[in-house]
Amino acid sequence: MLNLESSITDINRVGASTAKKLKKLGVETVRDLLFYFPFRYDDFSRLTPIAELQLGASANVVGQIELLQNKRSPRRRMNITEALVTDGTETLKVIWFNQPFIARVLKVGDRVSLAGKAEDDYGGLMMSSPAYEKILTPLRPPLKGGLGGYNAIHTQGLVPNYHLTASLTHKQVRFLIKQIIGLAASVPDWLPPEVKREAKLISLAEAIKKIHFPKNNSDIQGARERLAFDELFLIQLQAQLVKKNLSASRAPAIEFQETETKKFVDSLPFKLTGAQRKAAWEILQDLAKDKPMSRLLEGDVGSGKTLVAVIAMLNAALNGQQAVLMAPTEILARQHFETVSRLLAGFDVKIGLVTRSCKEISNNQYPITDKITNPNDKKIKAIDIVESASIIIGTHALIQEDVKFNNLALAVVDEQHRFGVQQRKALLEKTSPQPSPLKGEGVRERLTPHLLSMTATPIPRSLALALYGDLDLSILNEMPKDRKKIITAAVPEAKREKAYEFMREQIKQGRQVFVICPLIDLSDKLGVKSVEDEFKKLDKTVFPEIALAKLHGRMKAAEKEKVMSEFLAGEIKILVSTSVVEVGVDVPNASIMMIEGADRFGLAQLHQFRGRVGRSVYQSYCFLFTDNDNEKVFKRLEALAKYNNGFELAKIDLKFRGPGEVYGLEQKGFPELKMASLFDYALMKLAREQAVKLAAIDWSLASWPLLKEKLGEWERRVHLE
Ligand code: ADP
Ligand code: MG
Repeated sequence: MLNLESSITDINRVGASTAKKLKKLGVETVRDLLFYFPFRYDDFSRLTPIAELQLGASANVVGQIELLQNKRSPRRRMNITEALVTDGTETLKVIWFNQPFIARVLKVGDRVSLAGKAEDDYGGLMMSSPAYEKILTPLRPPLKGGLGGYNAIHTQGLVPNYHLTASLTHKQVRFLIKQIIGLAASVPDWLPPEVKREAKLISLAEAIKKIHFPKNNSDIQGARERLAFDELFLIQLQAQLVKKNLSASRAPAIEFQETETKKFVDSLPFKLTGAQRKAAWEILQDLAKDKPMSRLLEGDVGSGKTLVAVIAMLNAALNGQQAVLMAPTEILARQHFETVSRLLAGFDVKIGLVTRSCKEISNNQYPITDKITNPNDKKIKAIDIVESASIIIGTHALIQEDVKFNNLALAVVDEQHRFGVQQRKALLEKTSPQPSPLKGEGVRERLTPHLLSMTATPIPRSLALALYGDLDLSILNEMPKDRKKIITAAVPEAKREKAYEFMREQIKQGRQVFVICPLIDLSDKLGVKSVEDEFKKLDKTVFPEIALAKLHGRMKAAEKEKVMSEFLAGEIKILVSTSVVEVGVDVPNASIMMIEGADRFGLAQLHQFRGRVGRSVYQSYCFLFTDNDNEKVFKRLEALAKYNNGFELAKIDLKFRGPGEVYGLEQKGFPELKMASLFDYALMKLAREQAVKLAAIDWSLASWPLLKEKLGEWERRVHLE
């Protein structure tokens, strides 16, 4: 007997190879498969008499096969299966390419259901490569609307589409889910009944059934609403509980060191923007209190968040306290380490770097020549850094290392959406208990450090408040003055050579170039530009005279770091990379961002890439390439030329969503919402009301054990505020 925890290999007809493919999608159990939701639907809900087919429209046709044969097309070097299907109103020509087995699966006289688009065939109509299904029930004249009698799941009604890996078909996935969909009834519904009632939501079991096999659009709507509510509700509930928790704990106050802070600001080669000044002031005021700050610093790419964080961290250091800055990648951590060391060169502050492969301390020196090693000339360990540095910069390694800070007063998390709730919590708990004179002689108390989260997620204030609860927010809504607008263009293939020529020209003038590709190597998926291939081509044939390097997530940390530091030093002129450069990297000398396969990225993510250039006085450019010549794709990319705001761009992406699409392109930099969208204001409000209500009744959640369990599981999994 199957149950939710059964392995997918226990399902009928799942062999080792299918199981392996499903595993790639994260599907290992029956439960995983039930929660593997389709992202869009083909609408074949209208069974159309062949005589009434319309050119270009999707339709479902049911008829009898009159002729079926395989042909070889010598010109196109492929097999063509040709069929004639009749339903009594008309005969339709159907062809499939390179699927000769179809002529074995189907035979003349069979009744089939076909789903596809009617195409032009020398003035008549035909279907090419439609989805097909043999029908066992007797042929009946076409009925209007529903199609009761025919038991088809691939070609009739609203047919779900899933995100798949190579060589796994929609047909297979639908077939498997059909077999286990009955088990949806045994999925426990963790949403308290009163919430469900008040928000007018269907049960989880029903939502799962309907999202996979909807009868009509209102089924999809109802299912989507329930599943989207779940996501928003968990975010809200989390925000409420964090707030309650914080209000009960104490923080080490960080006194504002006015003279030194002023000295630092005056030492900068530029003036702070008004927004930076205001944000820094809001933060310093919070830090001076003994209530833990929990503030989100939000500013579009290039708005200068790092500097604001440095001002805050410097104040902690000047008070003899410690500050830590956690970044999502080694590249970024190292870059912050060098930036901060450079900026604070004139201050007596020790700065440490802790990543998995690197432990370093710099002592107000720049460039960092004098790497301190410990007396026995052994390698520096995390413990040495934690004991001697007052500003510590690092990656996840900061939490993984088995060390505690003596005097941690401020934790800064850069690109906060890259970290899970648990990781942030773990960072805040990295401090040792301190003597607490307030609580009495000999009593030690663990104080909660102030938390500053930074994000380039460009959510407007009102929305951020609705989404994250009443959190404190500082916004950098102003760019440094010297910035020029980045010239952005979707470049047609015909102009590729010209673009290369332009790159060569810019490099001659001393500038540098990023080339972004969607994949690492071609075996990942066919037809999409990969880093390996593109690097080879550019290095060997296009720019043999120029220094190039490649960068991707599968390289060793030390290699990545070497490439990045050479690029930063200007020794490498062109960096061919995957999306690893998307976050945070700051190479002011780079002036061209060239993106291959641009249609594969969300607009907000493309905006993030673009933010890697235009970071200094040089005029910068963003060139978008795609081999998808669909006009809609081009239009979508052109939005980037017009808009310079990640939030607007995400909104536009939503508009480009096709009909029947349940969720859109993944938008890096936005909370990980699958079903819900940032623009579901009404649903967000509803989720918030319900979360506030529950938290007020019992914020231990003891009354709702299923909900409590779900929240814990979600916190471990989802990377969110
Ligand atoms: P982000 O907000 O994307 O993290 P950064 O903090 O990396 O941006 O800053 C982007 C670049 O702008 C850096 O090179 C930084 O030195 C520079 N910068 C920061 N503030 C200013 C300013 N007020 N005027 C000019 N340049 C600035
Ligand atoms: Mg940054």
